[in-house]
Amino acid sequence: MKVLVAGGAGYIGSVTTEMLCDAGHEVSVFDNLERGHRAAIDPRAQFIQGDLRRPETIEAALKESGAEAVIHFAAYIEVGESMRDPLPFFENNVSGSLNLMKAMVAAGCKKLIFSSTCATYGTPEKMPMDETLPQKPESVYGESKLLCEKIFQWAEQIHGVECVFLRYFNACGATEKYGEDHSPETHLIPLILQVPLGQREKIFIFGDDYDTPDGTCIRDYIHIRDLAQAHILALKPGISGAFNLGNGDGYSVKEVIDVAREVTGHPIPADLEPRRAGDCTRLISDSAKAREILGWKPEYADLRSIVESAWNWHQSHPAGYGDRSE
Ligand code: UDP
Repeated sequence: MKVLVAGGAGYIGSVTTEMLCDAGHEVSVFDNLERGHRAAIDPRAQFIQGDLRRPETIEAALKESGAEAVIHFAAYIEVGESMRDPLPFFENNVSGSLNLMKAMVAAGCKKLIFSSTCATYGTPEKMPMDETLPQKPESVYGESKLLCEKIFQWAEQIHGVECVFLRYFNACGATEKYGEDHSPETHLIPLILQVPLGQREKIFIFGDDYDTPDGTCIRDYIHIRDLAQAHILALKPGISGAFNLGNGDGYSVKEVIDVAREVTGHPIPADLEPRRAGDCTRLISDSAKAREILGWKPEYADLRSIVESAWNWHQSHPAGYGDRSE
């Protein structure tokens, strides 16, 4: 299948591109390289540089690639940044997505797989979390993704573009070639691994007074390969709607640090900091719908193998892709 990956130079986009190429799809990557990395684009994919905020660039890319489906990752993703500087999130994530859908409708491209998030639910009313929960985002980032889902739902209803929303829990891990390189980094696992890499002295635990067995927040960590696989399964004609993607297991911040100590053999000193604004106590996915309808089965569910894969990648790429500005 001819697939256009918007945001294919980013973390999840790069691994999805790699796995699409492995599966024999004809892949084009569309990216502005603002936060993604040229070196993260699989050489088997065609690269088309452009920006969703400039509609003529995505219109041209759809034409050039002849895409039958689009997988859309291109967005700002950092929750904290979205609460300090909200409007670029609406401009890039929402208006960029609107431009993409307009171009898809004009080009007759009838399938979209959208990178969404469990942050669209806000604080959940039940645990584990399934897709029937009300969506009440508590951050601009989450709101921007929910607005995109709404635009896409109407486009599906009126223009017949099949839309799949994949709502991720905590993406982590790496393949041999592609891994996580954000600047600045805010995610727990890559920050922890900076300690044994000699790039920071210690990790800070944001709060140990949550209502959990060890007092630290619990998250559902899902391997990037398993996430990527769900996108490939969702390409199948006839599939649309929302799917939560997680392992269904929760690990606390302290448990993740302990696993990283075992994997790296480094003591990884940890200090306590106050709670980080906006963090929910516990986020765990109920992914029964993805298993049943997509036929999705996470293969790297064990936290140790997830952290090992990230550690291998960071050891072989200590400066990430080597193009960070700071
Ligand atoms: N966290 C932490 N120290 C850090 C970074 C994150 O204690 O330096 C905690 C954070 O409060 C949350 C969990 O680790 O409970 C996962 O955070 P991350 O930013 O990786 O993902 P999020 O769940 O916010 O999407």
